[in-house]
Order: sequence, then C-alpha cells, then structure tokens
Amino acid sequence: MATVGKVIKCRAAVAWEPNAPLVMEEIEVAPPEEGEIRIKVVATGVCHTDLYHLFEGQQTRGFPTVLGHEGAGVVESVGPGVTGFKPGDKVIPLFLSQCGECRFCKCPKTNLCDRSWSSKYYDVMSDPTSRFTCRGQPILQFMGTSTFSDYTVINQIAVAKIRDDAPLDRVCLLGCGIATGYGAAVNTAGVTPGSVCAVFGLGAVGLAAVMGCKNAGASRIFAVDINEQKFEMAKVFGATDFVNPKSYNKPVSEVLGEITNGGVDFSLECVGNTAVMRSALESCVKGWGVSVLVGWTDVTDFSARPIQLISGKTWKGSLFGGFKSKDSVPGLVQDYMSGKIKLDEFITHNMSLEQVNDAINLMKTGKCIRTILNVSK
Ligand code: NAD
Ligand code: ZN
Repeated sequence: MATVGKVIKCRAAVAWEPNAPLVMEEIEVAPPEEGEIRIKVVATGVCHTDLYHLFEGQQTRGFPTVLGHEGAGVVESVGPGVTGFKPGDKVIPLFLSQCGECRFCKCPKTNLCDRSWSSKYYDVMSDPTSRFTCRGQPILQFMGTSTFSDYTVINQIAVAKIRDDAPLDRVCLLGCGIATGYGAAVNTAGVTPGSVCAVFGLGAVGLAAVMGCKNAGASRIFAVDINEQKFEMAKVFGATDFVNPKSYNKPVSEVLGEITNGGVDFSLECVGNTAVMRSALESCVKGWGVSVLVGWTDVTDFSARPIQLISGKTWKGSLFGGFKSKDSVPGLVQDYMSGKIKLDEFITHNMSLEQVNDAINLMKTGKCIRTILNVSK
C-alpha cells in the first residue's frame, strides 16, 4: 500500500469550537505507533453524544476535535506490536476499550476498562494522544475514535475485528447506540421474561433498549417520549404502550404507577436529562424495581428522595450497555447477520460526510433516528 508509514492527508469534519457548525478540512493523519491501527472509515452514525459534546457539555478544553464514535471501516495499516489485525480487515472502533489486563477487564462484573479515555478524561471526552493535526494545530480525537474523518488512528485495545461479509454502513451502529441501548436492557437492567418495562426517550438508544426488553421476554413495554412521532418506530421494536408525559397534568410516574398497579419492573432513561432520570426511578415498583441511567450528561447533579431507594428499588447506570467491547461487538455483528437483532430499521437517513451538519440538525430537531454518513468507498 502506497500510504503505509506515511502521513495521510484526508478530509475530516473538524469541530473547532462548541456551538458552531463543523468545518470540512484537510487534516494530516500520522502513521500508527506502537500498538495502534490506522483505519479507513467507511461509514459512521451520528449519535446524541456527539451533539452533547458540541452543544451541551459546557467546556472548551475538549476542542478542537473530530467528533464521531459510531463508525466502521477497514484497516489501512498497523503499527509495531499489533496482533490480530492486518490491512484489509473490517473493524469497528470502540469508544470504550478492553485492554484485557486491567483490574476492571479481569472482573466479569464490569466493562469499564481502566485504559479507556472515559476512566480519566470524561470531562474533555477525549484521549490526550491524537494522531491528527490541522492547519498546524493538534486536533483531539473525540471519545478516542473520531469517525467523522476519512482516516483515524486507534489503539488496538479499542478496535473490534468483525466478519468480512458484514455491511459496514449498518454494523457501524453497533459501535455505540444499538449496543448501548440493547445491552442496558439485557445486561445492566437484566430484564426478565414476563416483566413490565418502561423506556424513556426513543432515539436509537431508547429504541434499542425497547428491542432488548422485547428480546429478553418482557410482556409489556411502555415507550415514553415527548415527541409522539417516535411512537410508530417504537412499535417496530416491540413497544406495546405509548406515553407522552406532556399529555397529562400529573407526573408520568403516577400515570405509569396507576396503569401497572404500582410501577414497572424495569425502567431505562435514554434521554440524558436528570429530571427524566428521576421520573424513571419513580416509575419503578417498590421492592424490586430497577432503573438504569443510559443517557449521557455530566453538567448537573441529580436528585431523588431517599425513600425511593429505601423502599427497595435499585438505581444504576450503564456505559456501552455493559458489554465488554472487544469481546462482544463481533458477536453482536453475528446477531445482526442471523436476524436476532435489528439494525436496518434504525436508519432513517443516508448522507455524505460533507452533509454532517445537516445530519446534526436532523437529530437536534427530532426528525431522524439514525443518519448514516457514507465516508469513503
Ligand atoms: P436522540 O436525540 O436520538 O434521542 C433522544 C430522545 O429523547 C428523543 O426522541 C427525544 O424526543 C426524547 N426526549 C427528550 N426529552 C424528553 C423528555 N423530557 N421525556 C421523554 N423523552 C424525551 O439521542 P440518542 O442518540 O438515542 O441518545 C440518547 C442518550 O443516550 C443521549 O443522552 C446520549 O448521549 C446517550 N448515550 C449514552 C451512552 C452510554 O454508553 N451510556 C452511549 C450512547 C449514547
Ligand atoms: Zn454514541
């Protein structure tokens, strides 16, 4: 390959500052160093966490950066010491790594690899090491991935090799949203057969949580959103009941409590709003109800009355659906290929990388579930 060992000049959508449109730029992508892999990005989804960093995160140290963390691509070259990857392999970048050696990777109870950017740098949402420069300046790699770029460089602990026949413009969704929501239901909540569930927020993450509740055998799944246009889609993934909190003059937890004779067995917050997190907890039944925080936010405290937990409810959170990333993503690709999980149904729009700002606006205005950006051929 003509590019091996050389700096690659290519296109990327650079976020120079918060609250501003991304700018298509030519960036320089350095060759992979020890243990690193340079990947040609083929397709990427746009996730709300990209929007969170751009519009909601309220800090400037995480800029300039290249956003995008829900991608799939092909290995262009590998650095020294890389094992298990070769040029041409199909891969999914992982925003949560799995080094396999830290205390957390060795423990079956968690997927929180200690070497992931998220264990130290969650405020800036990037790993300080980046192989990108633009206009003479270093550019951060958002969530260690940066898939809004023709090429990216990632440590091998944060890359999953997947089967050769996987369609990259679909399975890219397993790099974040779908694995996250689905795993939050089946792993973190541990939804049980016959149970009653409620999912708050029906973006791709919430819809994937609905799919997880359904696959785990839930008998009733309440889909809760303030945008009723999402209800039709929730039905596709197995939701049985639809609730718009704005249609009632009492709290949604009371509405759900009345319909379910005391509250749901499992609730999942897939919005990233602390008031909704509280509602989701309050919607659970006392004694055994489990509520899972999936939505991402780090700007305000949350609150709830202690009696909510004293009464026997469990409140927990989930990063990447509790999946040990490197081990699980190839299996999730397999589950899609065998029809066990849906992916196609999440995709409402296909665009080019140049249209990334349009894709961001679609999500901001609630007009899409997932837009796939086709990056390179
Ligand atoms: P999205 O913007 O597509 O969907 C959010 C949905 O929430 C929308 O349908 C919106 O109408 C709905 N909503 C907004 N306010 C609401 C309210 N008050 N009550 C009920 N519904 C409301 O976003 P997404 O890409 O599906 O992501 C959802 C959340 O998950 C985000 O916070 C994102 O950052 C987070 N996330 C977390 C992880 C993780 O590992 N924990 C991974 C990926 C995404
Ligand atoms: Zn995401």
